[in-house]
Amino acid sequence: MLKRVLIANRGEIALRVLRACREMEIETVAVYSEADRDALHVQLAGQAFCIGPAPAAKSYLNQDAILTVAKAAGCDGIHPGYGFLSENADFADRCRQEGITFIGPSGDVIRRAGSKSAARSCMQQAGVPVTPGSDGPVATAEDALRVADTVGYPVLLKASAGGGGRGIRRCNTPAELPGFFEAARAEAKACFGNDEMYLEKLVLNPRHIEFQILADRFGNTIHLGDRDCSIQRRNQKLLEEAPARCLTPELRAEMGAAAIRAAQAVGYENAGTVEFLLDPDGRHFYFMEMNTRLQVEHGITELITGVDLVRQQLRIASGLPLELKQADVRFCGHALECRINAEDPAENFRPCPGRADFLHFPGGPGVRVDSCLYVGYTLPPFYDSLAAKLLVHGPTRLEAIRKLRRCLEEFALEGIPTNAELTHELLYHPTFIRGGCTTSFLDEALPELLEYDRKFRETEVQT
Ligand code: ADP
Ligand code: ADP
Ligand code: MG
Repeated sequence: MLKRVLIANRGEIALRVLRACREMEIETVAVYSEADRDALHVQLAGQAFCIGPAPAAKSYLNQDAILTVAKAAGCDGIHPGYGFLSENADFADRCRQEGITFIGPSGDVIRRAGSKSAARSCMQQAGVPVTPGSDGPVATAEDALRVADTVGYPVLLKASAGGGGRGIRRCNTPAELPGFFEAARAEAKACFGNDEMYLEKLVLNPRHIEFQILADRFGNTIHLGDRDCSIQRRNQKLLEEAPARCLTPELRAEMGAAAIRAAQAVGYENAGTVEFLLDPDGRHFYFMEMNTRLQVEHGITELITGVDLVRQQLRIASGLPLELKQADVRFCGHALECRINAEDPAENFRPCPGRADFLHFPGGPGVRVDSCLYVGYTLPPFYDSLAAKLLVHGPTRLEAIRKLRRCLEEFALEGIPTNAELTHELLYHPTFIRGGCTTSFLDEALPELLEYDRKFRETEVQT
């Protein structure tokens, strides 16, 4: 078993990994930027080292600094969390060259699965359905126009290296394609340092359904069920649930088997997620991408399966076989997660970092809070705006919804504006209660929800 793990991340995910390590009696080494001196992950780790100035490129993406610390501190493993270096194949290779275990798949696997355009052809060969689109990347707007003509509009231009909903543009007509192509390419270059683009037919009103995978190096690959992440704002997830309400047992089995085939097709090892789009006909599904890392929303799978995914990651990386077989995976009840972001919905979701002057987290049975906040902590402006994840587990979907409403009513944070009230409104929306949300739901319902949010704030000021 690994003995000392460097956590190459920050925020709530650094804490999540740290907690699993401590429970497994693995020593922890935190790294932090100059902006994160007061961060909780620094305080709770066995040791902590500053690796550079605030900008991520100089700290959390600084491979040299991170590897230097890992060697100096005698670490035998590095956990990359999500974002930052988690899907960086070169970094995974460098860890291995230095004799340090990268807690995730190998660089080669990340290369095969991580480039979304390359993964598409791999999946086609493995018999996993993909959306109609380009075979591999499209180099120019002219190429994109040709492919778009054959698959039919509307289409999505997507960055091969994309993540977090960035580098994606919808085109309804050939006329708007060239402009969007350049815009998406520039965004991809800026966000991911890679401007390779590909093209997919837009699936209208789909659901985003993903499967959690675990695979060891002995060829055992299992899935831990599905998550519905259709509630998104601008292609970014806001509220997730498990299991997906819209899947029949037959479709669930079929998609689960396809997810395992997808993972095996790239020789997957460790924890990963296969994302699909489900057509509104409720029958056709398409591979979208594979995330070769722990996912933000992994906790809802943990709640319904009782499996600690980070523990499994650490065991797999240590060379141990999977602790459970597919038949051992049991699903219990329903789980929901909402992402509390430091942002102001009334101002077009402008990020609003600040100081947590007062803070109260909800509790009670079936409640889990993953957060880097504490009273007096100032959320720095340099990183993403995720401030807390509220997760609930109930025997049924309706009980889980009621519990999450109650948690959001109890949650109190002063000093930092968030999307918490807006999410609370969302939990009363009839389409959500019915389980009818597709990926276009939130963008369409937003004006209505924002109006409630505005009224709520007005009453708050008056009282
Ligand atoms: P998930 O798919 O786990 O729900 P998100 O897509 O919201 O996660 O991304 C999780 C975090 O990782 C976010 O901070 C996002 O900005 C970041 N991220 C995702 N993909 C990439 C990538 N390819 N490069 C850099 N950061 C990424
Ligand atoms: P990211 O790496 O940023 O998570 P994804 O490829 O997973 O990018 O796409 C993000 C979101 O964009 C999806 O969850 C879905 O809502 C939407 N999307 C992506 N591809 C398509 C498509 N072909 N048709 C419709 N929606 C899509
Ligand atoms: Mg995705």
